[in-house]
Amino acid sequence: MKQQIKGLKKSHVSIGLVPTMGALHEGHLSLVRQAKKENDTVVVSIFVNPLQFGVNEDFTQYPRTFDNDCELLSKEGVDIVFSPKAPEMYPDGFCTSVAPEHLEDKLCGRSRPGHFRGVATVVLKLLHLIQPDNAYFGQKDFQQTVIIRRMVADLDLGVNIKALPTVRNQDGLALSSRNAYLSETEKKDALCLCAALTKAKGMVAAGVNNAGEITGEMEKIINSCKASRPDYISIVNPRTLETVSEARHGDVAVLAVRIGKTRLIDNMILCVLVFVMWLGSYS
Ligand code: AMP
Repeated sequence: MKQQIKGLKKSHVSIGLVPTMGALHEGHLSLVRQAKKENDTVVVSIFVNPLQFGVNEDFTQYPRTFDNDCELLSKEGVDIVFSPKAPEMYPDGFCTSVAPEHLEDKLCGRSRPGHFRGVATVVLKLLHLIQPDNAYFGQKDFQQTVIIRRMVADLDLGVNIKALPTVRNQDGLALSSRNAYLSETEKKDALCLCAALTKAKGMVAAGVNNAGEITGEMEKIINSCKASRPDYISIVNPRTLETVSEARHGDVAVLAVRIGKTRLIDNMILCVLVFVMWLGSYS
């Protein structure tokens, strides 16, 4: 990979990086397509990063569909697939990591201690190895995008971070590699996540800004599904991830909910509709 990048850098081509853990779906492919539009060369990394999984999490069960992933990426015209083995990324004696303080212990970090250290560390390594001009992430993993942007600014990494909208199925379920764990009934149950977020968005658009009132309505929707167990439901500031009491334009409704044994996350940016009246001149 380092040699390839050396060659590319010599010929001054722009590089777009899409980091993934594989088991690719249309959400990943939306990032790839955008990267193709904006760069001369696109690198997709496929690496199920052990550092970001807790001891009781699904590292071993995580879906691995490498051949199919490569087929999809080849159809999209991706130039390089980088799929290192864990000991190459973390050789014996590896002991350095990135701690996104203040941001890592909020939201998902509360129930997944160490997760965002693992994410930030692997992304930093990928950015150093591949030296992309642009790196593409999904808004679906909202906390991750906030942490990566912060890391890039804090450590002067000089790469453009692009966060792209969440791709959903036709019912509204956010695409995720972990949806493979859901039964058909659970897939229907999981629609409560999108329904709760849509409710929040609707309330804010209708002028409600009391965050407690909004999350209360979201909770009702989540709890109306018997198979669901909420981990968190909140409205947060998009830079600090602090819970807000008054929802403002640009704040984000976020939630993590267990459907059966599967933990799902989703979010929506809340927008206040602004009506601009143009008073034309009729002279
Ligand atoms: P993952 O393989 O789950 O680590 O995801 C790799 C990248 O794809 C991350 O930046 C995710 O946020 C992004 N991604 C995952 N699901 C979606 C989706 N439904 N829509 C858009 N991007 C997504």
